[in-house]
Amino acid sequence: MSLKKYLQKARKENRAMAQFNFSTLDQLQAIISSANVPIIVGTSVKESNFFGMAEAVALVGYYRKKGAKVFLNLDHGRDIEIVKKAIDLGYDMVHFDGSKMDHDSNIKDTKKIVNYAHKKGIIVEGEVGYIPGQSAMNKCDLPKVDSVAIADVVRFVETTGVDLIALPFGSVHGVYSQAPKLNYNFLKEVSKIKQFLVLHGGSGIKDGDIKKAIKLGITKININTELRMAWREGLEKSLKSKDYAPYDLLSESKNRVGQVVTKKLLIFS
Ligand SMILES: [Zn+2]
Repeated sequence: MSLKKYLQKARKENRAMAQFNFSTLDQLQAIISSANVPIIVGTSVKESNFFGMAEAVALVGYYRKKGAKVFLNLDHGRDIEIVKKAIDLGYDMVHFDGSKMDHDSNIKDTKKIVNYAHKKGIIVEGEVGYIPGQSAMNKCDLPKVDSVAIADVVRFVETTGVDLIALPFGSVHGVYSQAPKLNYNFLKEVSKIKQFLVLHGGSGIKDGDIKKAIKLGITKININTELRMAWREGLEKSLKSKDYAPYDLLSESKNRVGQVVTKKLLIFS
């Protein structure tokens, strides 16, 4: 079954598919071995450069051959060339993030990517309206999230033909002193479009708010920061031991990443 079919099934059943980001093999293994439902794994540009895009494609392909229902997404590709590279290498979907461009340039470049990707059967996530923040534990106040006009969203999805759309629903990248407040009115209005709605910055949002957002039409939720925090906390604990073997040092990180995955999948379903 294709990723698009899994997304359609999730929306029909009022569930959301998770996207878990990774930048190391132990993270990827922990994510895949803890997932009991179809998932997306993502690499941002920095994560892609660290892990290797061809390596990510090969490994995800290997796990899929072994029976895992897992798909690979390039997360926040801001440059046409890297997005095309991901498509050529065999990513299952790509997220082209033109949110820092002016609206018309974003439409123009996203459309180019959609034409290129759809010829190869790859689905595309577009983005309108900038989603701020860093995927880290930030000990400061929430950054302000801009709003976008529904008319701009409609014009964007209709002109570009994207399959999924990332929008500023009130969430931010990273975890902050306060939990973000989601803009349910905007979500309700925009859920009338046929594209799958993507919630970025899924870390740090209260469980009840996530469930409400799924009910209102969110079909894909990206999680990165909470996995990074679990990984780091596991490693910090291990480094207090006298261990030297990486398999000893990283095993606690792996366990903790797996626990986050299990917890999130339960909420999303
Ligand atoms: Zn994001």
